[in-house]
Amino acid sequence: MDKFEEKMAEIAKEDLSESEMNKRFLDELGDDCICPDCPMYNQCAQEKYEGLYCLMGKSECNLEEDDCICPDCDVFNDLDLKYDLFCIKGSEKELRGA
Ligand code: SF4
Ligand code: SF4
Repeated sequence: MDKFEEKMAEIAKEDLSESEMNKRFLDELGDDCICPDCPMYNQCAQEKYEGLYCLMGKSECNLEEDDCICPDCDVFNDLDLKYDLFCIKGSEKELRGA
């Protein structure tokens, strides 16, 4: 089990609703997300206070594909994430087909 799977297993034990889970992710990891520094992060994303796409899923905004900076993020490295471009492709969980 890698760190991402361990984190998901830990959260699953608490039987949280999706909104409770997203709140937990934001509280714990929101400040570490560097999406606002990414060339793809636009005004729409900023106005919606989006971020943590790796855990919360795709953006609701129309983002133009560019270089994803997720591999430079602490969350990415702390959770051993395997994918990127989460804002347009979906969360790590979805991309792993879990
Ligand atoms: S890995 Fe990417 S989407 Fe996830 S918190 Fe870091 S910068 Fe944001
Ligand atoms: S998920 Fe990656 S590509 Fe999307 S805004 Fe965050 S850093 Fe940029």
